[in-house]
Amino acid sequence: ADTMRQQVRIPVPQQQPRSTGADGPQLVSYVLPVYNEVDGIRRFHEELTATTATRPEFDYEFIYVNDGSSDGSLEVLRDIAKNDPRVRVVDFARNYGHQIAITAGLDHARGDAVIVMDTDLQDPPKVSLELIDAWVAGAEIVSARRRTRQDTRFKRATAAGYYRVLRRCAEVDIPVDTGDFRLLNRRAAEELRGFRERSRFIRGMVASMGFKQHEVLFDRDERVAGETKYPMRKMLRLAADGVTGFSTVPLKMITRMGFITLGLALLGIIYAVTLRLFFPAVTVSGWTMLMVAMLFLGGLQMLSLGVIGSYVGRIYSEVQQRPLYIVRDVIRHDAD
Ligand code: UDP
Ligand code: MG
Repeated sequence: ADTMRQQVRIPVPQQQPRSTGADGPQLVSYVLPVYNEVDGIRRFHEELTATTATRPEFDYEFIYVNDGSSDGSLEVLRDIAKNDPRVRVVDFARNYGHQIAITAGLDHARGDAVIVMDTDLQDPPKVSLELIDAWVAGAEIVSARRRTRQDTRFKRATAAGYYRVLRRCAEVDIPVDTGDFRLLNRRAAEELRGFRERSRFIRGMVASMGFKQHEVLFDRDERVAGETKYPMRKMLRLAADGVTGFSTVPLKMITRMGFITLGLALLGIIYAVTLRLFFPAVTVSGWTMLMVAMLFLGGLQMLSLGVIGSYVGRIYSEVQQRPLYIVRDVIRHDAD
């Protein structure tokens, strides 16, 4: 039996040491991206700490990632950190964007659970307690899903449409109306750290990981101060990262178009040749040859693009270097 046991002992990625003793309170980390939130950040921290104070059974750490703010947010964060030893500030050298800021925060988080939320109070701190409750009840990943949201009509409509289209074409099951407000348990956070691709769509990566996922519904509030840091340009980039990162539909469309063009070209060729053979009076001289060559080449080019595209797609997924698989647990005879 001993040799059997030896055989099934396969290497499991090294776990980070627990930050708290086995019997001590569990640590909950908050990952908080900040970009030019000078007018709201202090109020945010007050509300967050007031909310977490109602759950003294946990330890907390608050990891603010200053994403190259240019408005004095850093000074406020410094001050907050001076007065609260649970606060850590990761200060970026420039603005890298929301998704990278979250990634850096995750890299620094040591908690048994990690909560990612916005710092403009659109994600209400009290909802994070519901995420914690679901985690305590056994969920490994808990996503906060918007039941309603106070944003411009344009933003609501485009977001609603986008998530539904993405859901249809993505290869993984990306939940609708869900941003990056969620809780990950220690294992899930650790696995998410293994995704190092540069164009990041974190909600897609989380969805692709599996684990026991749970949803909590909430009403998304209005921004307390300032305005959205997601202008059209950044929104479109994120939307494109979602589609190209988790779907090969655009590629498949090229291939399909190639087949359709080639099929139509064949019909056109038959038509042109028939016309030339049986109704020579109708055609201008040289027309048939031109039509045949043009249609055939056009179709062939489309199809070749599709073939090249599918290789590019494979290269793309190779360079993403995503984990091949995620093992939740290895079950063996002498497990404790
Ligand atoms: N944010 C960031 N870097 C950016 C843009 C935004 O860290 O380049 C942060 C921002 O401070 C906020 C969160 O990401 O905490 C969400 O941004 P915002 O509220 O502007 O987006 P919206 O809620 O309008 O979609
Ligand atoms: Mg916001």
